[in-house]
Amino acid sequence: MTLVAVASPRTCLRQPIPEIETAAERLEHAAAAHLRGNKSVAEELLRLTDDKIVWTWLNEVWGKASRYNTPVRLLDRTPLPPEARCKPRDATPATKRLIHQRDGYYCRFCKIPVIRGEVRRYFQLHYPDAVCWGSTNTKQHATFQCLWAQYDHILPHAMGGTSSIENVYLTCAACNYGRGNYLLEEFDLVHPSEHSPRIGRWDGLEHVFQAAP
Ligand SMILES: [Zn+2]
Repeated sequence: MTLVAVASPRTCLRQPIPEIETAAERLEHAAAAHLRGNKSVAEELLRLTDDKIVWTWLNEVWGKASRYNTPVRLLDRTPLPPEARCKPRDATPATKRLIHQRDGYYCRFCKIPVIRGEVRRYFQLHYPDAVCWGSTNTKQHATFQCLWAQYDHILPHAMGGTSSIENVYLTCAACNYGRGNYLLEEFDLVHPSEHSPRIGRWDGLEHVFQAAP
């Protein structure tokens, strides 16, 4: 008897590792220390979350010629001319608010916690030595990079995808940049609406951002 391997649909490009959850928990502790005014503890925890294992997990997904971002098949992705593409190019702030109401602060593909860039910049401002954010991957804080919230067009914008809540889902950096402009079908990915969002208390550290003067 010959067994034929059949690629089964999957929910994400790469399964997350436990170190990501640990790092997110440490960021919560750093946020709590910051709010208590204990900046030295916050700084130490922020340094601890600049974790090489987390950095490697992400960079293996979005890096060049990675096995994780190599499609299983190629379909026609002829882009529309720029003038024929939907406007606006990105989800508006109002649409992003609706996206967070639906998706919370977890990636809709791999379910890891995410943090908006605006919140990360708050920590960069207060802890510039612990939260580095240079112009290249190697100079960016590992966990803030890994948990970087993205507003991902499921049907790529260049192929006529709109920036409405029906087509834009909250994702992490690995799931957004790993897939790039490919279609879900090219990776055998299940549409995120077909699996449940993660429900949890993680708020993307928004409480720190909101408490800021
Ligand atoms: Zn993800």
